[in-house]
Amino acid sequence: MIKIKTPEEIELMRESALVVSRTLGEIAKVIKPGVTTLELDKIAEEYIRDQGAVPGFLGLYDFPNTLCMSPNEQVVHGIPNDEPLKEGDIISVDCGALKNGFYGDHAYTFAVGEIDPETKKLLEITKESLYVGIRQFRAGNRVGDVGYAIQQFTESHGYGVVRELVGHGIGREMHEDPEMPNYGRRGKGKKFVEGMVVAIEPMINMGTHRIKQYSDGWTIKTADMKPSAHFEHDVAIVKGKPELLSTFKYINEALGIETDEELEFRSK
Ligand code: MG
Ligand code: MG
Repeated sequence: MIKIKTPEEIELMRESALVVSRTLGEIAKVIKPGVTTLELDKIAEEYIRDQGAVPGFLGLYDFPNTLCMSPNEQVVHGIPNDEPLKEGDIISVDCGALKNGFYGDHAYTFAVGEIDPETKKLLEITKESLYVGIRQFRAGNRVGDVGYAIQQFTESHGYGVVRELVGHGIGREMHEDPEMPNYGRRGKGKKFVEGMVVAIEPMINMGTHRIKQYSDGWTIKTADMKPSAHFEHDVAIVKGKPELLSTFKYINEALGIETDEELEFRSK
């Protein structure tokens, strides 16, 4: 069942989303060759707790850490470890937080130092596909419209769209209805209405869409070991239109990126 949020609840959810946004901004400041994903995980946990929130993933379905850290060919759900990141790696960082009874959940794939142009393009197109999808999350459209838009856009660049993992409604629970696949058919699936809040999160592979799971029971990697990227935002329908609750503003500030790509999804 889809749980519609009141305007007051959406404001609480914005605060939860921003806890995550600020935390990803802190991570952006310290990602560099030599740092370990476990060190980044500790920074994130402390920073989330300092904001009066609780890490959203820690203990959820028994996940052992605060951040999902998925380098290179790992798609999502990677477990932080003490292996240093290397120049040329990419690292997908997924973060959740619980505050005032509501979850925030979003993700960004970072370059570690200089990366090759082909991988850089994968990151750019995957991030752009997130906004292509968000544009379709409006009252009267349907779940399939978002998935169709993301799939068309990314496949036109020759990339693979992961099928087994999808975006989701979010609220008092991390994962609520509806499921939000990054593939689909126009005009199909549940209809969007005012007050819906979802996490849209394209997981896009440079090569095949097929994936495999590690024996740790968590980590998902691409079947062909080519890189994969993951970008995620929390989005509400306000006045019929998509409104971002999360932001990459803090990441952009840390990385010196100037962009107005979020502007069309803000009412304030
Ligand atoms: Mg996430
Ligand atoms: Mg999510």
